[in-house]
Amino acid sequence: MENNPKKSLGQNFLTDSNIINKIVDLGTISKNDLVFEIGPGTGNLTKEIINKNPKKIFLIEKDSMLTKKLKTNYKEKVIIFNQDIMKFNENSLSKSKERLIVFGNLPYNISTQILVKWILNNGLNFWYKKLILMFQKDVAERIIAKTGTKNYGRLSIISNWKLQIQKHFDVSKNCFFPKPNVESSVLSFVPKINFTKFKNSRNLEKVTRIFFSQKRKMINKPLRKLFKNKNEFINQFNLNLRPGNLSKETYYEITKEYEKSAN
Ligand code: SAM
Repeated sequence: MENNPKKSLGQNFLTDSNIINKIVDLGTISKNDLVFEIGPGTGNLTKEIINKNPKKIFLIEKDSMLTKKLKTNYKEKVIIFNQDIMKFNENSLSKSKERLIVFGNLPYNISTQILVKWILNNGLNFWYKKLILMFQKDVAERIIAKTGTKNYGRLSIISNWKLQIQKHFDVSKNCFFPKPNVESSVLSFVPKINFTKFKNSRNLEKVTRIFFSQKRKMINKPLRKLFKNKNEFINQFNLNLRPGNLSKETYYEITKEYEKSAN
C-alpha cells in the first residue's frame, strides 16, 4: 500500500468481498437511485455500488490523497467532494428533493456524531430513504438497546426517534486492513412514517442530556430541573426510577411537555 492508512481518520479498509457484497445488497439499489457514500477510502464499497448502476453516486472523503485517486479511478456518474462530512450540507445533493441511499463504513471516532447530525439537523424532514452503516459493535449495541438494559441511553433514544432500525450482521476485525481492535456491526435505518413531532429536535438532545448526565440518580432531580414546580406532570412518574428505566416513548413525551412548558 502506497499511503499509510491514517488512524486519525479511522482508516480501516474493508477487504472481505463477501461482506462488501452483503452490505451493498442491503441497499437494493435500482437505476433511478441516488447514492451517497461517506468515507469511500480506497473505493472498496464504491466499486460494488457502481456495479449496481445507480443514477448518480456522491462520495465525500476528507483525505485529499485518497480523493485524488478516487477522482482518477471514477469519472462517470460519480461526484466526489473532498470535504468533512461534519461540515457538509446534505440537502444540497438532490435538487429535486429525491431521497438518497446512504452507505458508510464510518470513521469510528465520529460515527455517532454523524448519525446524530442526520437525525437532529433536519428536524421533521428526511434527505435519505435508507442508511446502511457500519459501527463498532459496542456502539451498534447502544443504538439498538432496549429500555432497562446496560447499553440503553441517549443514543438509543435519539436514534429510534424517527428511524426504524435493523441490525443485519456482525463483521469480524479480520475483514479489515489494518485490523481494528474491535468487532463491527452493520445496521440499517429507514425513516418512520409516524413519530413524535417536536418544535425543535434539539430539545430531545437537551432533555436526554439532563437525565443521563446523572444516570444512576433517581429521576426526581432532572424532572424538577426541567419542570420546576409543575407537580401535576412530575407526580405522574414513579420518582424512584432511574433514567435507564424510562422508555424511549416516555422521553419523547417528556420532550413534548418540556416544549409546551418552555413557552
Ligand atoms: N469505505 C472504505 C472501506 O470500507 O474500505 C473506508 C472506510 S474507513 C473506516 C473510513 C473512511 O472515512 C476513510 O477513508 C477516512 O479517510 C474517511 N473519513 C474520516 N473522517 C472523515 C470525515 N470527517 N469526513 C469524510 N470522510 C472521512
